[in-house]
Amino acid sequence: MKLDPERQEIEYRCNICGSKNQLESGKFHRELALCQKCGSNARFRGIIHVLAGFLGLTDHGCLREWPRRTNIFGIGMSDWPGYATLLQEKFSYENTFYDRPPQLDIQNPTEAQLGKYDFVISSDVFEHVLPPLQQGFDNLLALLKPGGALVFSVPYTRSLETMEHYPGLHEYEILDFRGGKILVNRNEAGALEVYDNPVFHGGEGATLEMRLFCEADVLNRLARAGFTDILVHDQPHLPIGFYWPELISADPAVPLYAYIISARRPRGPAVRGMFR
Ligand SMILES: [Zn+2]
Repeated sequence: MKLDPERQEIEYRCNICGSKNQLESGKFHRELALCQKCGSNARFRGIIHVLAGFLGLTDHGCLREWPRRTNIFGIGMSDWPGYATLLQEKFSYENTFYDRPPQLDIQNPTEAQLGKYDFVISSDVFEHVLPPLQQGFDNLLALLKPGGALVFSVPYTRSLETMEHYPGLHEYEILDFRGGKILVNRNEAGALEVYDNPVFHGGEGATLEMRLFCEADVLNRLARAGFTDILVHDQPHLPIGFYWPELISADPAVPLYAYIISARRPRGPAVRGMFR
């Protein structure tokens, strides 16, 4: 996101808790830029900002002040508790987890979860989703009612291809090895593969990073799933502190963009497969 270089101090009102904050523009960061009251980062405020646009609630102040509309159904995938708790108060919304109830396995959603939701939030989850990857995107669409909205983010590059860290993943285990971790995989042909230094998010032993997306692949996969109105939200919205500098990676060899992306399930009959 580009910013007027003259601008130094940015005053913003957190669109989650409503508190006023002030921060130098250079200190903004996708995962930092924390609201002093609720601790929201710029990504979380962006997610709620994009959701507000879909629900027609942009002029209704912060999430805490939004009207209660229990006829709107939403689902989150390991959403940040700071906004999940408020979404639960306002809507028929449920935050879900991969490994504990309330559960959502995006590769195997239950019948009851299909076509049920007006919005789905999936923020920084799909870099961890097990293959087959396209099926995960297809299921995102399948969760939504016709006309429903997806608010999505993953860290991504603008390289030509998504980098799958473990392309032949089949039967695998993460093992301790000489003070570190290794990933051992038996691929479909039956051969053993060993991967050194697997990358985890949320500390070692937490969630395994499966891939590093490229932007074009994310957009293509959303289109292939049947989504329309696919938008990359790369413009700052300073009144709520939705801003981070263009790149979020410290490694110049692997610049990361990681903007929030939104998309809609068409209102008409599904045209899934059209772009395959
Ligand atoms: Zn806040």
